[in-house]
Amino acid sequence: MERGALAGGSAAAEVAGPAPTAALAEEERESCAGLWELPVERCERRPECGRCGRPQKVCLCPFLPVHPLKVSTCLYIIQHPAEESRVLRTVPLLVACLPPDKCKVLIGRRFSEDRYPELAAVCRNPSTLILYPGAEATNLEEIALMPSSPSVMIIIDGTWSQAKDIFYKNSLFRLPKQVQLKTNISSQYVIRTQPTNTCLSTLECAAVALTIMEKNKSIQETILRPLQALCSFQLQHGAQIHHSKEHLLKNGLYDKPMPKNKRKLRRMELLK
Ligand SMILES: [Zn+2]
Repeated sequence: MERGALAGGSAAAEVAGPAPTAALAEEERESCAGLWELPVERCERRPECGRCGRPQKVCLCPFLPVHPLKVSTCLYIIQHPAEESRVLRTVPLLVACLPPDKCKVLIGRRFSEDRYPELAAVCRNPSTLILYPGAEATNLEEIALMPSSPSVMIIIDGTWSQAKDIFYKNSLFRLPKQVQLKTNISSQYVIRTQPTNTCLSTLECAAVALTIMEKNKSIQETILRPLQALCSFQLQHGAQIHHSKEHLLKNGLYDKPMPKNKRKLRRMELLK
């Protein structure tokens, strides 16, 4: 119900079970069936801006920094393939804010040492961190206080279940020190449902993490500016605010059937 036409909202699919996603994919396939018969010219995608990756009409470049931010931390964004094809993806905005040698995007599900020797070397470097929350994770603020600040951070871009799959099924990602953000800022990315109020999009995570590691508050502001512009544009054009699942449950507004799976149900109960 609260899923807008433009928003992916697949974080919701994880808690509600896989069925809705499958049904949606089926629906999409069917509605695309006739498209192949159209003349080629009419199938062309809307022209996209080469810098921000947005359609040219809604280019966000005026909200991007004129020059890439000067940072010493290098980010490796590990992007699930499904994330790349989303209409509202935030990683191109992050890439546009940073120098090319400080933000590398690798797309895939499996990252073996053989196929990704450079990534393997990065993972084996003791100064590399991986941002993935959990009981084993240290708060990034504590690490940033140490005299020799780490210089490389790996961030996984995908829904919660995609990120979990990538983190646990690739032994390379278990090598770097695991860190998490102990932040209480609410996600501003209101047009895509996040499981809890404090779940942040990849762009927001990167902005907060870089601010902490570089000890520079203005980084967060600069990186989040295009996201704020994107959200206000989408809202002005009919997208609906996506309250987090936590917000909906707490306020009795959750209108989807509760999951049958006991583990999933328990997780939902914890959000209340
Ligand atoms: Zn642009």
